[in-house]
Amino acid sequence: METPILDGVLFILARIIEFINIGMIILFAVRGVPARYIYAVLSVTVISLLFFVVSLLFRSEDVLKLSFLVTVGAFVVMILIARHALSKASIDIILPEASRCPVCSAFVKQEGAIALHVGHSYLFFDQEEHLRKFLESPEDYAKIRRMEIKSDMIGKAYVYKNGVWLELKNT
Ligand SMILES: [Zn+2]
Repeated sequence: METPILDGVLFILARIIEFINIGMIILFAVRGVPARYIYAVLSVTVISLLFFVVSLLFRSEDVLKLSFLVTVGAFVVMILIARHALSKASIDIILPEASRCPVCSAFVKQEGAIALHVGHSYLFFDQEEHLRKFLESPEDYAKIRRMEIKSDMIGKAYVYKNGVWLELKNT
């Protein structure tokens, strides 16, 4: 009945998974992933650690196995959150050199740059305010800049902050 080797393996696997979860939390923070995803990974990690502590207190094989199952469950949840969060945070947009804002003609600097998905490319703005102005009447600005823009070509907007493009909400 006693399976100390299996227990040892479970124990080590569970600790490795928790270690990876903590690494993911740090990666999320560095990548500028929204706080709600960080809290989500943090809570599944804490739940799995709590079960581990309970399994130590009861020193029961069943509780230890249950704790391992919870840890694996937490890991799966973490992977799903990570896939979702990183796919949102890792959009690769290249700001062309000497890009100008279609509203005010200012050169667009990388930090704080706004990118608007239009058709198969992006339009860049120097500030969010000008993106809003543009979105109020895209056809007018398109005419001035001799661009072909229809409202159904306009997609999501992104802002460049601390090395990553993040989706802009409420645009
Ligand atoms: Zn501008």
